[in-house]
Amino acid sequence: MSKNENLTETIEKMREKYRIEREKRLRSDGSDQYIEVEGKFSHFNQDPYSKEVKKREVRKGKTDVVIVGGGFGGLLMAARLSSIGYTDTTVIEEGADFGGTWYWNRYPGAQCDIESYVYMPLLEELGYMPSEKYAHADEIFEHSKAIGEHYGLYEKALFQTKMTDAEWDENGAAWNVVTDRGDKVEAKFLVLATGNLTKPKLPGIHGIQKFEGHMFHTSRWDYDYTGTDGSKDLTGLGNKRVAIIGSGATAVQVIPNLANCAKHVYVCQRTPSTIDIRGNAPTDKNWFENMKPGWQESRIENFTNVTNGVPEAEDLVADAWTDLMHKMIEAHREKKRGPYQGIDPTKLAQYRKMEEIRARVDQIVEDDAAAEALKPYYDMFCKRPCFHDEYLGAFNNDNVSLLDTDGRGVDAITASGIVVRGQEYPVDCIIFATGFEVGSSMQRRVGIDLVGTKGIKLSEKWREGPRTLHGIHTRGFPNCFILGGVQSTIAFNVPHHLDQQARTIADILNHARKENFVKVEVSEKAEKDWVEDIIGSGQKVSAPGQDPCTPGYYNNEGQPMKNGRYLRAYEGGPTRYFRKLREWRSSDDYKGISFS
Ligand code: NDP
Repeated sequence: MSKNENLTETIEKMREKYRIEREKRLRSDGSDQYIEVEGKFSHFNQDPYSKEVKKREVRKGKTDVVIVGGGFGGLLMAARLSSIGYTDTTVIEEGADFGGTWYWNRYPGAQCDIESYVYMPLLEELGYMPSEKYAHADEIFEHSKAIGEHYGLYEKALFQTKMTDAEWDENGAAWNVVTDRGDKVEAKFLVLATGNLTKPKLPGIHGIQKFEGHMFHTSRWDYDYTGTDGSKDLTGLGNKRVAIIGSGATAVQVIPNLANCAKHVYVCQRTPSTIDIRGNAPTDKNWFENMKPGWQESRIENFTNVTNGVPEAEDLVADAWTDLMHKMIEAHREKKRGPYQGIDPTKLAQYRKMEEIRARVDQIVEDDAAAEALKPYYDMFCKRPCFHDEYLGAFNNDNVSLLDTDGRGVDAITASGIVVRGQEYPVDCIIFATGFEVGSSMQRRVGIDLVGTKGIKLSEKWREGPRTLHGIHTRGFPNCFILGGVQSTIAFNVPHHLDQQARTIADILNHARKENFVKVEVSEKAEKDWVEDIIGSGQKVSAPGQDPCTPGYYNNEGQPMKNGRYLRAYEGGPTRYFRKLREWRSSDDYKGISFS
């Protein structure tokens, strides 16, 4: 057998193992295995950071733009509007401050896993230098607040407030917005920047409601219980046995901190994550200060291009995110040159990358059984890749036990502990690092059902699946824009996506104001064409049943998705989508949109 045949066989054997690992985890209840944080579980959703609701006057009156959501999407939208003179902007935000994800996710160890210089928005506009290549959550939260200050958004913002109703008034050409605090605001334009990973979810583990110890979700970290905010010093856990359920991107950042402080940590793992090198470092001030104007936009584009295989002369970020793409390119080149003829270059690159990830586990984790259990058997990007330099090492601590569930999940929760593979482990506290609802309707996740022209509800219009132009506009809902939603794109660097859409919306509003138009509506044809493109050739969000990916929220838990064809992204990845938006908005006739 030739060397290549050997390698092909090795790769195929490995892929067979991937299929077995996937099969082990597939469950018929798919996303229904999770329960909503409502009713008796609603305390999992409460804000532990601002327990008091700050008194304020009920807001009545008019505003130019209501933006729902004060995270990066809402902030970028407000910033882009401000730069064209729209300053009468009201942000409605459930949290007590700006920040969105970074308001809620304050768990110890939280940091951005995309390089700060491309991830943190508006660095040049604010003249801000992130302190590290991968900044920590408190700094990103502070930066969010600084954006709010810089653009004067605090004055009008409605915090600790949820929009409950929004109805289009055809005669007044405005949205009548109502909140849960009795506000009634008339807005010329409405922007939904409500984010995608916002509503915590809990696994419906048998007995979950019976536990008599303490429980909370990572996105509502209970520092009153664990001790000190914002540092590794979780003094409250020194005498506590803690179970953490989950081993995704959040858990990976939390666990080293628990390991440093808790009496004992039980890590309940269903599927191991890929743990690549982090390589964080303080920002080199000299390097940063010598950046040429416009550097951030170029760097952001460079990162998105490199991670999507679009040729760039230089990889500016050059980290573990971009590494797989280099491996892909290398494998394709080798195929052309000859030594690996007959081997699928994508499979070869994936194999090499995952072998590297698995070898790193062996290098760091001392216990052989734990090391084997921590090795991921699936392709890179089946799950959100993780990057950490202390996570794997934490399993060498005497006070950390890996409870690998062999893909089955925690069996049960009792009054005093958790049950894994038939054995009960008594614990004082259970921390759910079990992620967020994905794919549920906007009505369920955000509690909003817009009422558009002729009283049609968005849920009715989208009954068969979303229908949009560019993922931003939907016919029958004039002057309303959606940020970061389906039928647009999937970019690793989410703020890049949000910013490109925010710039597009700002351009439309600018045009409307210059020409004295009061109504912006998408044509039936433009929407139909876009939806057909998405359904016909759009980039699949998942390929249930075909891929060797273990289930998770990336592939709707391995189950076919209801109306899944409508949930795809624009074909060809973010670079092409952003180019399309740029060309569309710079053509000045905004084809498919009617202004009146
Ligand atoms: P995930 O949905 O990624 O992970 C949930 C975890 O819970 C998985 O490990 C899952 O296992 C596990 N789980 C679920 N049910 C059970 C069960 N019954 N028993 C045992 N384990 C269970 O949530 P995260 O909060 O980790 O991450 C969500 C997203 O947030 C990320 O994908 C990323 O996009 C973002 N994020 C970004 C960060 C950043 O930029 N800094 C940091 C953290 C998160 P299984 O895999 O088997 O389903």
